[in-house]
Amino acid sequence: MRHFTVRQFAKACQAQYFGPEEVLEQEIHGVVIDNRQIEEGYLFAAVAGERVDGHTFIPSAFEKGAICALSEQKLENPSGPYLLVENTLQALKDAAEAYRKTLTLPVVAITGSVGKTSTKEMISSILSQKYSVLKTPGNLNNEIGLPLTVFQIDTSHEVAVLELGMNHFGEMHRLSKIARPDYCVFTNIRDVHLEFLGTRDGVFKAKSELLDFAAPDVKIFINGDDDKLIALKDRAVTFGLHSDNQIWADQIENLGLDGVRCCIHTPSGDITPVIPLPGNHMVYNACAGTSVGLALGLTLEEISHGIEALKAIAGRGHVIHASHYTLLDDCYNAGPDSMKGALDTLNYALTRKVAVLGDMGELGTNSEALHASVGTHMADLHIDLLVTIGVKSRAIHEAAKQAAPQTECIHYETKADFLVAAPQILKEQDAILLKASNAQKFKELVSALQEM
Ligand code: ATP
Ligand code: MG
Repeated sequence: MRHFTVRQFAKACQAQYFGPEEVLEQEIHGVVIDNRQIEEGYLFAAVAGERVDGHTFIPSAFEKGAICALSEQKLENPSGPYLLVENTLQALKDAAEAYRKTLTLPVVAITGSVGKTSTKEMISSILSQKYSVLKTPGNLNNEIGLPLTVFQIDTSHEVAVLELGMNHFGEMHRLSKIARPDYCVFTNIRDVHLEFLGTRDGVFKAKSELLDFAAPDVKIFINGDDDKLIALKDRAVTFGLHSDNQIWADQIENLGLDGVRCCIHTPSGDITPVIPLPGNHMVYNACAGTSVGLALGLTLEEISHGIEALKAIAGRGHVIHASHYTLLDDCYNAGPDSMKGALDTLNYALTRKVAVLGDMGELGTNSEALHASVGTHMADLHIDLLVTIGVKSRAIHEAAKQAAPQTECIHYETKADFLVAAPQILKEQDAILLKASNAQKFKELVSALQEM
């Protein structure tokens, strides 16, 4: 964080302060709601969650060096200074807004129905070629994640790239109030969250609230191929695949798991980067990134390097070229959504596709249904072989057998059983996804398949 004192924080959220006077003038070094992330000088915000109440961690927060706590409850014997507020989450939003107002760096905000995180990563990768960039970690795009991200902006940062997501009217308005964007990027308007937003016009209206608190000289970037976003055309830089966009791409070449090559045309010239992540939609993200890069003064060469330096998004696997197979390694963690995302990635491979999936932990009482949902997800994919390993992942196997007749399904009790059979069931050049919770130690399979 840059200079921001406990007093400034308290004033922004109209908190009542309990503690020694001198602490009010001290600077806050960071703001967190997860007690595991507390460091010296941090403010710990206690949030009453559904499963755990953050207030129980306040004493340990001070042991870890917290300078101050933010609490919704009056504390009987406080173990350190604290700010009392009616609602911690609201206080975080109010304080983040006040903090943002003290910052002068350009803020790039990204919203849209799909592709926000992918576009955020692309824009960050490009801008990092010239600037020190603070980006939204992971998918922290909501009314909790955005304030926490804003507090991470530091003196060292030269630009912030923020992802903003919502599914109700009014939410984007509130997020815009915190982010106060100078650059606004709209990826697309799709028919998602229609239960709250009614129609695609509703989605467009709700997303457009991003502009409510934008800078007076805001620069807007839209996917010009989107029939709803085009309403902003007169005020925006357009990007897309059609040649009437200001930034547009053609000559798209699908390189399977190795990504996509394309030619991006700009008013300053053309570039032909290889986008190192699969899926033709990545071309849109590269065009969005090129538009923002040009607006922030990057050269075409820097933009091209930034596109090629893009890293895999956590949970969707990273590619290893072994002697006989191409491995999509994502075996250090797994939940149902990231498993589905990794399967979607595998689906882009141009060779035979094999998914080797193991048990997912910590899914609670719904575990069996959540495993089964992964199998059901395979209905629309073209995976050739599904190998499941472990007790829980049998539910994936059973669901896939029902939902995905195009996929051959084999189940093993143990990794060792699979490795014995591997030379028979795998073929030269197979693209193989490996994914399970860390506890399943699928890293061993990655090593074994690399050595085969
Ligand atoms: P969320 O609402 O969960 O935050 P998101 O908008 O951040 O989603 P991503 O996580 O970037 O979206 O992408 C979700 C999926 O959408 C990706 O796995 C990919 O298949 C696809 N995708 C990525 N970029 C685009 C794009 N520009 N257009 C369409 N689809 C995309
Ligand atoms: Mg996202």
